[in-house]
Amino acid sequence: MTPFQSPATHALHDLGVHALAQAIAAKQVSAVEVAQHFLDRANTHVHLGAFVAIQSETTLTQARAADARIANGTAGTLEGVPVAHKDIFVTRDFPTTAGSRILQNYQSPFDATVVSKLAAQGVVTLGKLNCDEFAMGSSNENTAICAVGHSQVEPVRNPWDATRIPGGSSGGSATAVAACLAPAATGTDTGGSIRQPASFCGITGIKPTYGRASRYGMVAFASSLDQAGPMARSAQDCALLLSAMCGPDLDRDSTSLDVPAENYSLKLNDSIEGLRIGIPKEFFGEGLAADVRTAIDAALKEYEKLGARLVPISLPRTELSIPVYYIIAPAEASSNLSRFDGVKFGHRAKNYTDLADMYKKTRAEGFGDEVKRRIMIGAYVLSHGYYDAYYLQAQKIRRMIADDFQNAFKECDVIAGPVAPTVAWKIGAHKDPLADYLADIFTLPGSLAGLPGMSVPVGFGEGGMPVGMQLLGNYFQEARLLNAAHRFQLATDWHARTPEGF
Ligand code: GLN
Repeated sequence: MTPFQSPATHALHDLGVHALAQAIAAKQVSAVEVAQHFLDRANTHVHLGAFVAIQSETTLTQARAADARIANGTAGTLEGVPVAHKDIFVTRDFPTTAGSRILQNYQSPFDATVVSKLAAQGVVTLGKLNCDEFAMGSSNENTAICAVGHSQVEPVRNPWDATRIPGGSSGGSATAVAACLAPAATGTDTGGSIRQPASFCGITGIKPTYGRASRYGMVAFASSLDQAGPMARSAQDCALLLSAMCGPDLDRDSTSLDVPAENYSLKLNDSIEGLRIGIPKEFFGEGLAADVRTAIDAALKEYEKLGARLVPISLPRTELSIPVYYIIAPAEASSNLSRFDGVKFGHRAKNYTDLADMYKKTRAEGFGDEVKRRIMIGAYVLSHGYYDAYYLQAQKIRRMIADDFQNAFKECDVIAGPVAPTVAWKIGAHKDPLADYLADIFTLPGSLAGLPGMSVPVGFGEGGMPVGMQLLGNYFQEARLLNAAHRFQLATDWHARTPEGF
């Protein structure tokens, strides 16, 4: 961990959430100065395509309010720390597009719970971040929105190599944090969208147990899977943010869990002597690229040095998680996306003959190819005659996948493996959407089971690209995951490296 240095000797954007919060609280730097610094960085690095909305005055107004709270002694735990939000969270003060033409120019009248919970601790909103349309994707190439400073829709770039994808669907979030354009960002993970881009961009991200963070105000993709979480430079920073983001929201999210918020920073430093790390053999098979495997193996050795014990385990239905997820997620998406009909909000086609024609034209114009593909798959697997063969069958296997984890957790405390089979690929390399789907193989099982999972930077592979290791825990074991990640980050500096030029 980089020891705290005064802002005078350390560029503000090199400080993480923890150090920035301390510096602002100690009045070494004002929230306005910090906000201005990150706004300047975001504006001078627009070529990466990370931001889809920057509104300096809105951000600076929030920062001035943070400084006022510091002056009058009512500051929150994250007072004045700027965080940029994935554009899937609705925000009252910024537009929200969910990466889709159908929501272009949409203005929400309220903030998502996660956004307002962070704001309640003093977080300043730095802007909105690019993402795959309705969070459907693994590369952020499915965005339909033009990034700030661009005149046409372009892919988000990975700051470690601008010819590569940042991962998805929270690609803008990962790029912004990796390039130090924001100290942290929010993300959402339905089948890996926090963990995979974090891995591809060399940052730390955590998806909590399903139901831990409110889904209220998160534009819905697959409701039984969607979950919010933080993406930052370190486990320590993620712990601070996650503590503020989680907690019951029973009146507004029907799947919110009635479990009190937790302070995830308390156990960060605990020893991991004797920690049993399960190594699923299915995560280390043929499909895993050699460079990724080398980095993961080295990280596991480091864990052994820290006193952890590696335990071989099996997650026998790992492969099935791909067909199961790509039935269940589209099924839920087809239902969730029916609200975009040109009537209540968002885009409406201009020329139509009758109501049915208006629906058709609005949706044809408003949705991108991947979204249409998912709606069609979803409607198909839910239709009479196919429901039993596909949807019901997928639900049964989903249960078995969850049971496999419970068996595994009898023998281990956490599970470790790769986040993705390869490092980030080149923009445009995956011509077939199936190539993207297959690359989700290691993140989907944990999502289907609703387990907490994180990505921790553990080295570099082909082309000098970052490799992330996935840590999965049993339900409500976020603190244990963050503790295991933090101890690793105290002993290594992979997470502290930044791409050249940033
Ligand atoms: N890549 C997966 C998909 O396209 C996961 C996306 C996500 O987690 N939002 O559905």
